[in-house]
Amino acid sequence: MATLQSSAPGPPGALEALREVAVVCTRCPLAETRTQVVFGVGDPNAELLFVGEGPGRDEDLAGEPFVGRSGKLLDRLMREELGMDRTQCYIANVLLCRPPNNRDPQPAEIESCQPYLRQRIEIIDPRVVITLGNFATKLLLETSDGIKRVRGRAYPFRGGHLVPTYHPAAALRSGGEVVAEMRADFVRAKRLLGAPTR
Ligand code: URA
Repeated sequence: MATLQSSAPGPPGALEALREVAVVCTRCPLAETRTQVVFGVGDPNAELLFVGEGPGRDEDLAGEPFVGRSGKLLDRLMREELGMDRTQCYIANVLLCRPPNNRDPQPAEIESCQPYLRQRIEIIDPRVVITLGNFATKLLLETSDGIKRVRGRAYPFRGGHLVPTYHPAAALRSGGEVVAEMRADFVRAKRLLGAPTR
């Protein structure tokens, strides 16, 4: 995969350089079925990074992560528990491209897409990462344990913190208790964002 030019001017330039590589990516067969690459949205200097699973139909059409029903819930919890909107954090996914019929990401697709996620994390250099659901959590925590088991606490991550929580789609399916646990996880992330040192 092409790498960043070291002359890219700070996170906005570096992210833009990476986006230019990503939008024409053909590293896996999802390139043949996507409408467009869904790179990410938000502040390139964000202290908080959300990582979801992969674009669904709405995101594939819009070119932006979490714009469908899951995204509406994410926006609401972000506003109510963190007091921020999507311009004040950064939202990315494990996969840049929609898996057909919203099936689960396959291991080879995750593997192909991983350099894009790792490079975005390096560029943005967030203090806190919130992983949404099993795919992002297992990848970044390097665990095979499921989200139910690992959520409820924060983990050290790159000198900062990783807070695993449910995917908003799981909250939409399961309702009250899962939403309440997501709220608690967001509050945990907010405390870490406000902590004086890294
Ligand atoms: N689900 C995800 O994991 N990511 C999106 O962008 C939309 C739905």
